[in-house]
Amino acid sequence: KLHNTILELKGNIRVFCRVRPLLPDDGCAPHPPVIAYPTSNEGPEQGIDLIQSGQRYAFTFDKVFNPEASQNDVFGEISELVQSALDGYKVCIFAYGQTGSGKTYTMMGRPESLEQKGLIPRSLEQIFETSQRLSAQGWKYKMQASVLEIYNETIRDLLSSNRSSWDTQRTENGVPGKQYAIKHDPNGNTVVSDLTIVDVCSSKEVASLLRQAAQCRQVLSCFFHLICTFSPRVWHAETIIFHVLILRSVGRTQMNEQSSRSHFVFTLRISAVNETTEKHGVLNLIDLAGSERLSKSGSTGDQLKETQAINKSLSCLADVIFALAKKESHVPFRNSKLTYLLQPCLSGDSKTLMFVNLSPDPSSVNESLCSLRFAARVN
Ligand code: ADP
Ligand code: MG
Repeated sequence: KLHNTILELKGNIRVFCRVRPLLPDDGCAPHPPVIAYPTSNEGPEQGIDLIQSGQRYAFTFDKVFNPEASQNDVFGEISELVQSALDGYKVCIFAYGQTGSGKTYTMMGRPESLEQKGLIPRSLEQIFETSQRLSAQGWKYKMQASVLEIYNETIRDLLSSNRSSWDTQRTENGVPGKQYAIKHDPNGNTVVSDLTIVDVCSSKEVASLLRQAAQCRQVLSCFFHLICTFSPRVWHAETIIFHVLILRSVGRTQMNEQSSRSHFVFTLRISAVNETTEKHGVLNLIDLAGSERLSKSGSTGDQLKETQAINKSLSCLADVIFALAKKESHVPFRNSKLTYLLQPCLSGDSKTLMFVNLSPDPSSVNESLCSLRFAARVN
């Protein structure tokens, strides 16, 4: 009964925890383990314990996925939520955790692999399959996709073909560029000025947009890396080529490092119309910036500003979800770009799910504890 009241209180907010398997780079399995899965999982919630220096910290979530859980197992638990976007609900699914904990694996995975593709490709396949089926019953669908990232409280359009516009997106003395202003229209939708929105008819089309976005993200972070590293005086072709080569050779790791500094937001707007009804749903799938703390990164200058921006926006997100769960009258949506952007999709009868991704590696135990505490606050 207690569990029921907790769930009622939380309304449409759920928190799932997922622990990734140990990777070869992590070394051998820790003894004693740093993460324990309690055997008796009574009630609708599930427990997970973290052991740090002999001290045991217990947490409960709506669902706990251990390292053996497959991408398919995870999707099985969220497919209903994805479906509700077709029924006109506004849905947000977040992945939260330190860099390397499995956020991108959970959200995107390996899109070309049947087993390892993540919940973004799986959600899209389900949505287009279902909409096709329902089209035969008289429903007409219109789907629109956009992909953006939020870096240092500035929006970058990852589908923009206008690459010359990037420079104007730069923040000057912390003041965001004029482009990509966020507004809320009277129908309760977010409108981002100048953002590229693409009509899509199949999951293949969206997959190709996502590839384009990933490429753009890589080029963008390389571009900004160059701007931050050099004053224009030393913009010789050689230095640029040199750095592009470095970024390329470092490859995936570098990409992960770059992507861990921004929030990645994929949005699919779904309009469904038949003779009598109209439904407007939105599915937002968000790969958040890495949650590692200020102290650990030992950053200074521009990097420090960047880390502070990430920390601020993540704590704003927690504040917003916390206020929503408590049904508080004031929800501080305006305190960050991310929460302001998602405001209509977080309020009202919208549905929110947050994944807390954890690494089982003993060297991550402090970070994991921070993530669990963050999530417990949201939960
Ligand atoms: P993040 O996006 O949080 O920085 P990644 O998703 O890139 O982390 O994951 C880090 C590494 O761990 C990647 O090599 C990824 O393939 C691997 N990984 C993460 N989760 C899993 C999982 N559940 N099963 C197998 N490998 C995983
Ligand atoms: Mg990632």
